[in-house]
Amino acid sequence: MITSILLSNICSWVCLAVELLKHKILTEGRVCGSDVLKVDSFLNHRIDVRFLNEVGKEFRRLYCDCDVNKILTVEASGIGIACITAQFFDCPVVFAKKSASRNISTSVYSAEVESFTHGGVNTVVVSKEHLGEGDRVLIIDDFLARGEALRGLVSVCAQAKAEVVGAGIVIEKAYQGGGDDLRASGLRVESLARIASMSEETGVVFAD
Ligand code: 5GP
Repeated sequence: MITSILLSNICSWVCLAVELLKHKILTEGRVCGSDVLKVDSFLNHRIDVRFLNEVGKEFRRLYCDCDVNKILTVEASGIGIACITAQFFDCPVVFAKKSASRNISTSVYSAEVESFTHGGVNTVVVSKEHLGEGDRVLIIDDFLARGEALRGLVSVCAQAKAEVVGAGIVIEKAYQGGGDDLRASGLRVESLARIASMSEETGVVFAD
């Protein structure tokens, strides 16, 4: 598979990470209802590290001139992608922790995030020790749906006076609107695959 994608890359500029991702979504992804895409075989349960390496390289290519010095994500599924990506930026990863407690300490920045997959609201927290003024942050996450998680992380950065250079998303469900809203607000959002629609009957249809 990788060889045939490499050969097609020689003929025309096609991003290996994007082509691999789309192929994996179509062959290994499972649509549950109309809203949830399960990609447990390569991203959310078992992790295909070689594939994530290509994802990390592509995020580096997209944000190579942004002087990123910190990658921010949210536990749990963003952590693996963020760590592999961080190697290409030679910078640390900070992940926001989900806190059950409503009693938030003054030593953290926090934001309320409505969970897309589990319902309910999580408070996500980042220690003031690990994010601050002067940081140039790339936010990484596995999925972008309504944009709640991303908005929460942007809010945490604003509290810390850290600059967000943009977001790197593996799979954006474009029809759920979060990406467009965030782009309209001025945030740079780069998604490797954008899904225009999906259902158990039709499967996944990509936006481009
Ligand atoms: P948002 O906050 O943008 O509405 O949703 C993004 C978050 O919800 C991501 O961090 C991701 O963990 C989760 N998520 C949203 N949609 C999906 C989906 O279709 N599949 C999986 N596995 N996770 C999703």
